[in-house]
Amino acid sequence: MKKISLLIYVSFVCLITHAQQSSPFVCALDNFLAIAREKTPGYDLQTLEREKSHQTLRTNSTNILTIPVVVHVVWNTTADSISAAQVASQMAILNTDFMRLNPDTANTPSAFVPVSANPKIQFCLAQIDPQGNPTNGITYTKTIKTSFALVSGDTSIWHTSKGGYNGWDPNNYLNIWVADISPAGGIGFWPGAVFPGHREGVVINNTFFGTMGSAVAPYNLGRTATHEIGHFLNLHHLWGDAGSNSSCTGTDYCGDTPTQVTASQNCPTFPKVDACTNAAPGLAFMNFMDYPQDACRNMFTNDQVTRMRACLEGGPRSSLLSSTACSVVSGVRAISEINPISLFPNPATNTVHVANIPMKSKVKLFDAIGKLVLETEAENMMEIDVTAYSEGVYMLIIENTSHRTVHKLMIAK
Ligand SMILES: [Zn+2]
Repeated sequence: MKKISLLIYVSFVCLITHAQQSSPFVCALDNFLAIAREKTPGYDLQTLEREKSHQTLRTNSTNILTIPVVVHVVWNTTADSISAAQVASQMAILNTDFMRLNPDTANTPSAFVPVSANPKIQFCLAQIDPQGNPTNGITYTKTIKTSFALVSGDTSIWHTSKGGYNGWDPNNYLNIWVADISPAGGIGFWPGAVFPGHREGVVINNTFFGTMGSAVAPYNLGRTATHEIGHFLNLHHLWGDAGSNSSCTGTDYCGDTPTQVTASQNCPTFPKVDACTNAAPGLAFMNFMDYPQDACRNMFTNDQVTRMRACLEGGPRSSLLSSTACSVVSGVRAISEINPISLFPNPATNTVHVANIPMKSKVKLFDAIGKLVLETEAENMMEIDVTAYSEGVYMLIIENTSHRTVHKLMIAK
């Protein structure tokens, strides 16, 4: 009952905020977490256990880390079908914010300059798709859906079959979906959240993406993607994981970010204090992991940078650093040969994810006596619900006109 109240409260706050301002920033992560707590007994305990293992990860490296990116534009109206130039404008913002080269670092209050830090992370648009074909790193999918209600837990953006688009293998690409997800500005999940692997990545509202075209002030400086990719690289909101932290016990697991009650909005005047941090210099509302308008956020801290880099170096996102997706294409280089079709988890109990499926493939699942139990079509990523199948060994055949592979799948109960 308490959890339901929290969800209602979060939604209520969103509505109130919406009524007071024309376009508040809403990151849908807290909404999804509230739903996850409802559905998953012991969810907070799992998060805590995962966090303990993350905290053992540390790195002292100073080299630049590069993440391959693919942008999936899911559009309904022509205006939503954003241009490659708009995508490039967003990439430019990421490549300055994550190098602390953004000109507005000059606006970081002097009290927070000592803890501000350079993540030294770069982003490149993919040059090779999961099938080994050349790509410009942008996909376009027309949808009949006018919007995706992420704040209400709508997951269809991650499914081609539901009007969204299946992501590319998250081991090789940071998937960025761009669509109308109003009233949310964006969403991103830290590694190991309970969500299936095919949702790994971030989703950005098309009016909050890049610095031109469909981007609308005051969220037209690309900071929504900076914030959501912060989550993707294991950063939490400054107030913790719930919509409000009135007890001041919520944490982002960083020692150099002041505790705060809840999200800041608009463009606060420095110093801003609240019930959790009631003396100057007060709250770090200019941190990318708070909610103020794009022009009023300009920094990550040392501890946040440590978390992001550890997440990439030896942590749960480390496979992205060895991805060849941004390699210059000479002829056709098959990334699928380096990263062949993979099934995970295997053995599976509830759901099995299949990655790197060649274009326009038929997928057939046979049980131990050769009976066809599933036949469908897929490409890139798919998930198979195996809850209805009995325990045992199964054969998964994936084939198209030029490719056929056979995989052993174990189903365990
Ligand atoms: Zn967020």
